Amino acid sequence: MKPQTFAILKPNGRIVQGMILKQIKIAGFKVIREEVRTLDMEVLREHYAHHVDKPFFQPMADYLVSGSSILLILEREDDADPVRFLREMVGKTDPKKGEPGQIRHDFGVHHPTVIFMNAIHASDAGEVEEEIARFFPNHT
Ligand code: ATP
Ligand code: MG
Repeated sequence: MKPQTFAILKPNGRIVQGMILKQIKIAGFKVIREEVRTLDMEVLREHYAHHVDKPFFQPMADYLVSGSSILLILEREDDADPVRFLREMVGKTDPKKGEPGQIRHDFGVHHPTVIFMNAIHASDAGEVEEEIARFFPNHT
């Protein structure tokens, strides 16, 4: 099986989500699974277990359950590492610290303090299997 990565297009409206997905495909990713879903608090508490005690957790979770996300399992068309490739396309956690052309810089909210409206989640190295199992429990 080819290496995969996992991504969430955060609630941003269908037009913006569609533009991000188009960029991902143009960059050489193949979509293996795509599901529109409104995330719930339970799954967010697991996914962001390392952040549940931080002051930004509740506002971040409220934002993430506020609308539809698009959940994606992705492979590369070529032999590049999908995790590294997508993380590079996504850019820094805080959109305003990224580079023009990166997804979070271009589609995330540039705010002095709020950084969680950053358009996309992309698995980091070592996180993919666990995250796919969490969000797509029936995926083999
Ligand atoms: P992600 O896992 O979403 O791809 P990341 O690996 O760049 O992002 P993490 O440290 O795993 O960053 O943080 C997960 C998410 O928590 C970030 O995408 C962001 O939405 C939020 N977050 C992290 N740090 C902060 C912070 N200091 N203030 C507000 N939100 C934050
Ligand atoms: Mg992370």
